[in-house]
Amino acid sequence: MCGIVGISAESNVAAEIYDSLLMLQHRGQDAAGMVVCDSEGKLNSRKSMGYVRDVFQQNHMNKLVGNYGIGHVRYPTAGGAGKEFAQPMYVNSPYGISLAHNGNLTNSKELARQLFHAEMRHLNTDSDSEVLLNIFAHELGKQREIYPSAEHIFKAITKTHRRCDGAYAVLALITGHGILGFRDNNAIRPLSIGIRKGQTRDEYIIASEDALFTSQGFEKLRDVEPGEAVFIDKKGIFFSQQCAEKPQKKPCIFEYVYFSRPDSKIDEISVYKARMRMGSKLAKSIKNIKPNHDIDVVIPIPDSSTTAALQLSVDLDVPYREGFVKNRYIGRTFIMPYQEERKKSVRRKLNILDLEFRGKNVLLVDDSIVRGTTSKKIIEMAKESGAKKVYFASAAPAIKYQNLYGIDMPATKELVASNRTHEEVAKEIGADWLIYQTLEDLIDTVQYGNPDIKEFETSIFTGDYITPLGENYLQDLEDSRQDDVKAQRENA
Ligand code: AMP
Repeated sequence: MCGIVGISAESNVAAEIYDSLLMLQHRGQDAAGMVVCDSEGKLNSRKSMGYVRDVFQQNHMNKLVGNYGIGHVRYPTAGGAGKEFAQPMYVNSPYGISLAHNGNLTNSKELARQLFHAEMRHLNTDSDSEVLLNIFAHELGKQREIYPSAEHIFKAITKTHRRCDGAYAVLALITGHGILGFRDNNAIRPLSIGIRKGQTRDEYIIASEDALFTSQGFEKLRDVEPGEAVFIDKKGIFFSQQCAEKPQKKPCIFEYVYFSRPDSKIDEISVYKARMRMGSKLAKSIKNIKPNHDIDVVIPIPDSSTTAALQLSVDLDVPYREGFVKNRYIGRTFIMPYQEERKKSVRRKLNILDLEFRGKNVLLVDDSIVRGTTSKKIIEMAKESGAKKVYFASAAPAIKYQNLYGIDMPATKELVASNRTHEEVAKEIGADWLIYQTLEDLIDTVQYGNPDIKEFETSIFTGDYITPLGENYLQDLEDSRQDDVKAQRENA
């Protein structure tokens, strides 16, 4: 997963892009970068591996002069991990274009072949973002305009949409001209626009999540629509156009379950409220299935499940207790590359408060179960601390299929629920009983916030992928995501 932000203002934007990237850090901790353009049309940039606070030092910030720019935080989902994958990526023709991408193209191999054979463009990485950048650059360059207007840019986006399949929320900086944002036909990944009054003009921000707008003094204008492109030229004039032939909003439901900040609203749906409703629905299901349950306490697995767990406990009328204390200064366990490392890191990440477990029947709540590594370890810890029975509730349905749209999920065969029944998963993770949210309930909880959205991207639960897939795409991705393959790649 990745986070992107672009700002166009009257004065230097680097400090605000930096603060925005800090607020998007949860979307990617592998690499960070920023490029800004100054009044002479010169680009200033900095990108490197690591957390935002480590990538940008005062000496870098001093050089990042420019009143419009874009930034990126990266968390690899497809393609390798390394400095050459850090974004924004740059291509010098036409005009000099930098690009920051959140998502994943599902026909990038075919496009890479076309770029090489028909368009004679060299790609330096296997990153689909580099492919996307070159496709857009090629389509814009074909118009042979020295000074591109918004109309030229939107025409190039229309052609880009026709060629690219998959998920992409994108920001691009066109050197000397302005910043551009666009979303794929289905609007799978989020992208919102904010506005602020300057002295002489309106100032704009476009970002993966709107939670960062208020802290930078912006007000939310709206979300970018599926297939739409917006362009803010260097003088701050705002243009927008629908560039897709058949746009249909189908946002990724997992943003609401896990990825986004609770203080964000995505496509007009509050993530926080959606999570509360997830808790309510789970409570309702528990009451239906186990009307005489013997749950003594509800305990969240911090952090992403706390909102759902609190509401679940209220609706179930069972006390909510904090049974785990999170060490905030280590990364997410998922990020550790290999299984052994991952197992150890759960204990490093969460410390248990024994007194909340001793002699009790506890219901542990998590937002989702992926490999099952976290839940298994946590249940083990709960039992060691004297819990009588450990029940487990997942705010998301069983994850059975790999994600193709920009979320770092393991290969299908490494997902604990991929070929197990709920009972088998419960046994595998050591739970005395396990309840998953049903997909129908999950969709209800999210859709309630914006009934105009008729469909969501839910393929990790159903295996129904909503975009065309390139030849062998599924199998290639499955192969490249297995732990042993990742290990080999990293060693190389
Ligand atoms: P696992 O141990 O693999 O079952 O991981 C489950 C935990 O990982 C849950 O607590 C989720 O909060 C978290 N999680 C879910 N999806 C992801 C993801 N794509 N990247 C990192 N963590 C995740």
